[in-house]
Amino acid sequence: LVRLRARLARSQNAFGKTLLGLLSRDTLDDDAWEEIEDTLIGADIGVAVSRQITEALRTRVQVLGTRSVEEVRALLKEELVKQIGPDFDRAVRTEPHGDKPAVVMVVGVNGTGKTTTTGKLARVLVGDGRTVLLGAADTFRAAAADQLQTWGERVGAEVVRKEEGADPASVAFDAVKRGIESKVDTVIVDTAGRLHTKTGLMDELGKVKRVIEKQAAVGEVLLVLDATTGQNGMQQARVFAEVVNITGIVLTKLDGTAKGGIVVQVQRELGVPVKLVGLGEGPDDLAPFEPEAFVDAILG
Ligand code: GDP
Repeated sequence: LVRLRARLARSQNAFGKTLLGLLSRDTLDDDAWEEIEDTLIGADIGVAVSRQITEALRTRVQVLGTRSVEEVRALLKEELVKQIGPDFDRAVRTEPHGDKPAVVMVVGVNGTGKTTTTGKLARVLVGDGRTVLLGAADTFRAAAADQLQTWGERVGAEVVRKEEGADPASVAFDAVKRGIESKVDTVIVDTAGRLHTKTGLMDELGKVKRVIEKQAAVGEVLLVLDATTGQNGMQQARVFAEVVNITGIVLTKLDGTAKGGIVVQVQRELGVPVKLVGLGEGPDDLAPFEPEAFVDAILG
């Protein structure tokens, strides 16, 4: 959490600073409140929620008659934490059940950071003393399997892969089969993220999931979203949510954006919690998502 805070503070993520600046103006007239709302919208929080937060703040500031920076910050923090939803279960299900490994599917559009997230998650688990196997079911992107292989060697996880262009479902099947045979704790399957057509995607991910489920339960389907892509990312998230049952969101590249507000939007719309955040390209740059620490970070 300290790391989450430090990383986000170092990034351009502090739209909260702009808000606090606006809130500490001498007069808070309609224009000022509009600017506050615009700042929230600009941070990708979403129009409706931005209005809601602004109205709530406006009422509370008026009722309390307060203008002290500390009090205003506390009110803003409270409103933001409320919107981010502190009561989601954000645990990532990686515990084996019986003699079967836990299976985690990692889905999302290419370039969002799926393979990197798969590697980083493996690193966390291996660091906790778990055995992990990685399935390179992104057979579409040329370098994906090599990239995953490198991660596997780096973190100490076996990698199951096939030739480029192989059927992703057959790789997933083999990975889980091998994982069961070698009694690993967790199998993480990196999938291909071609957003060709909705039915194409649905067929592909559906098939991957079905062949896995012939052997072991899929405990998590993590959707990887690039925080820097804003509304485009939201649109992608909607498509994935329609084709596969997502259990958690990984928001990557939070280190490179001032728009962390996408957290609020994506959770509200999909009803699924952000469970992990990506804070860089390195092996240790994955952190559990913690709403309070996150809000503290964006408020600077
Ligand atoms: P994939 O196509 O979805 O598997 O995406 P990759 O895992 O190959 O990642 C695409 C690029 O984003 C790579 O250059 C990664 O190093 C980079 N990347 C992934 N996660 C993060 C993150 O949290 N922060 C930053 N700054 N870069 C990231």
